[in-house]
Amino acid sequence: MLQKIDHLGIAVRSLDEAVGYYEKALGVMCKGREEVPSQGVRVAFFMVGGVRLELIEPTSGDSAISKYLEKNGEGLHHVAFETDDIVAQLQKARNAGCRLINETPIEGAGGKQVAFLHPKSTHGVLTEFCSKNSKKS
Ligand code: ZN
Repeated sequence: MLQKIDHLGIAVRSLDEAVGYYEKALGVMCKGREEVPSQGVRVAFFMVGGVRLELIEPTSGDSAISKYLEKNGEGLHHVAFETDDIVAQLQKARNAGCRLINETPIEGAGGKQVAFLHPKSTHGVLTEFCSKNSKKS
């Protein structure tokens, strides 16, 4: 089952410039940064009302975020739902006819298991499922 909105992913060209906007114009402080080499991105986190905002900057030209920025420019990239059973959640989406980007979960930021549904089958919103706990093995 879905538990809550875990985070909103926001594609930015420059993490430094975007962090400056959130800190100065919105008055929220950056909670940390992390590099996710497997996805070719660097992220910066903010917390607002229990929901994490995840600013995402590409570190490689062929990352999905880099392609997204070329096509759409900066903006809301994905909505991530926390689930207590990511495998069951993926199966449910598959059974409902959704196109899965990840047939099985991959490792995302914070060592959590994550998987994405294609926006063409989710009414335009790139949808991420993420596990509640990190599963570092
Ligand atoms: Zn995400």
